[in-house]
Amino acid sequence: VASPPPLLATEGLGKRFGHFRALSDVTVGFPEGGITAIIGPNGAGKSTFFNLISGAFPPSEGRVLFRGRDITGSPPHHFARMGIAKSFQITNVFPQLTVRENVRVAAQARSVRFAFFRHRSAYPVLTERAEELLTEVGLASRMDRLARELAHGEQRALEIAVALAAEPTLLLLDEPTAGMSPEETREMMDLVQRLAETRTLILVEHKMKLVMGLCRRLVVLHQGQLLAEGTPDDIRAHAEVRRVYLGK
Ligand code: ADP
Ligand code: MG
Repeated sequence: VASPPPLLATEGLGKRFGHFRALSDVTVGFPEGGITAIIGPNGAGKSTFFNLISGAFPPSEGRVLFRGRDITGSPPHHFARMGIAKSFQITNVFPQLTVRENVRVAAQARSVRFAFFRHRSAYPVLTERAEELLTEVGLASRMDRLARELAHGEQRALEIAVALAAEPTLLLLDEPTAGMSPEETREMMDLVQRLAETRTLILVEHKMKLVMGLCRRLVVLHQGQLLAEGTPDDIRAHAEVRRVYLGK
């Protein structure tokens, strides 16, 4: 009996910007459950890869498969409908709405295709879901604040709650700790770990140390190519990774 296909896979994925090859021939699979980290130095092609697997733009070559189905070139809302959500670095949050309203609006946006959720009586259901998600990301005490009043780390947590409102199977996060203090970084990594208890996460991160302890697999990109993949132990012991990434 064949094993089930990975939740998400790429085959020969590549991206050119003009004549520049940002990504070449990346074939890799992401299992369902837990966290897989995509690591690599700045400019390695991590964000480009992230944008390709989240449908932000189409690849120049290769394919993206979700549960074995080819979704290459599908529009972004199709990726969302398949259950793939990403947290945007440039945010999706409305600064003048409250924290609660931001997540409720996102939950409503997902739900408009169900007749019930277009009705006024859906309002308390959506509000309740928003409050659950905000509690999950640690913002229970901030629900009545305007989004623009939040601290940087809290804003990032809110962006994640907005992404979760789409009820994704797969959550994609690109450097969620960028620009954070050590304290905020610790809280964000705790949150990432909690989220992965019930969902599949793909986490892009250039600080390898941060993810070694909490992901089950790593994918290492270098100069737009797949350099290595495997468990944290595999990656720690990988001679090429040590050379190009750790400078050892
Ligand atoms: P990472 O996220 O690993 O730091 P990126 O995927 O952002 O790397 O970038 C990989 C390479 O592709 C870099 O050299 C970057 O300058 C280039 N690149 C990324 N996006 C574009 C773009 N829209 N146009 C031209 N070059 C780009
Ligand atoms: Mg990047």
